[in-house]
Amino acid sequence: MRINIHAGHNPDGMAACGAVGLIRESTEARAVKDRVMAQLTAMGHTVHDCTCNNGTGKEDVLKRIVAACNSHEVDIDVSIHFNAAANPKPDGRTTGTEVLVYGKASPAVPWAQQIADSIAALGYRNRGVKERPGLYVLKHTKAPALLVECCFVDDPDDVAIYNADRMAAAIVAGITGQAAETTADAARLAAMSREEFVEYIGRMAAADMQTSGILASVTAAQSILESGYGKSELALQALNLGGMKAELSGNTWASAWDGRVYIKDTAEQREDGSYYTITAAFRSYPSVAAYLADHSAYLAGARAGSDLRYAGVVGCRDYRQAFQILKDGGYATSLEYVGKLCAVVERWNLTRFDGVSQEPDGSLWANIAGLSYTWAEASNFGQMLAQSGIRTELRRVNILE
Ligand SMILES: [Zn+2]
Repeated sequence: MRINIHAGHNPDGMAACGAVGLIRESTEARAVKDRVMAQLTAMGHTVHDCTCNNGTGKEDVLKRIVAACNSHEVDIDVSIHFNAAANPKPDGRTTGTEVLVYGKASPAVPWAQQIADSIAALGYRNRGVKERPGLYVLKHTKAPALLVECCFVDDPDDVAIYNADRMAAAIVAGITGQAAETTADAARLAAMSREEFVEYIGRMAAADMQTSGILASVTAAQSILESGYGKSELALQALNLGGMKAELSGNTWASAWDGRVYIKDTAEQREDGSYYTITAAFRSYPSVAAYLADHSAYLAGARAGSDLRYAGVVGCRDYRQAFQILKDGGYATSLEYVGKLCAVVERWNLTRFDGVSQEPDGSLWANIAGLSYTWAEASNFGQMLAQSGIRTELRRVNILE
């Protein structure tokens, strides 16, 4: 992603500085901004600092911030502030956090909601996303913009749990939709060759097939094609290997997805073959396994009206037929979807993963070593094997014709 970020107001001690309470807005907003920038940069995002440190007055500060913001082509403008004028009583209740947007139709709303939820998870009361069309920065920036009021500088309860590192981490999680654990799997994907990715996703898909009943070759081919061998922006930033959108036709199904989203532009194809671009919120996952589980749950449970959208895909043993079921159900808009997926299965011989069985943790497997007609014979045989270090278990077997 490309992100503009700035701390609100001039620095403390200058004209047009921020609110002062138990802590100082201008100072803390800069501390949080620096940490957010460092984290986003480390995750591979492009970040521009649009903070103004030398404005001549309030209006000048705002104009300079907006001019800096609009000089970069970005996905989002993020403004960091702290709130004031709380009821300054230490009553054990925070006054809380809120995120401001220009209007409810702003494309920044999903990010704003996610940031508010993420900060609230630190223990702050969630004052939610609010419309503030009169705010200069929200009104005059070109990209979708939001303004984070982290917490209140004059409420002792807010200040007691405030920490710049944790506040910054919450804002980063809100912007990227990325949980801390996402980064570990993403780093593995980034380091894999094509061959390594095929082996990895084939085995993961085989494990998923044990519970979902969806062919491993089908799941693996979709993941390979749709994520570009695990190297797409969605794969590396959100572990979303197949373009799972936050809203999927209003369908509901039992899902392990925890609600985090990653927002990006995406190309869609019309029936006539032409393309158009939409900005969409995609699901962000903590692990590749979580992605596969959610994807399979979607294929198994999504509905079109009262019918299953992809009826027959669970238990289908023919990958060509499974892909056609997905296409017919409207899984993808690309006209060559089925042919492309079949080519991926054949190129990498993915059907070899359809026969792979994964051991559930804690299972023991045994061979039957021999059959005896009496308990004594069976017992002697077991003792003989025990001398070779082979553990046996004596069971009665009912022989059926
Ligand atoms: Zn402010």
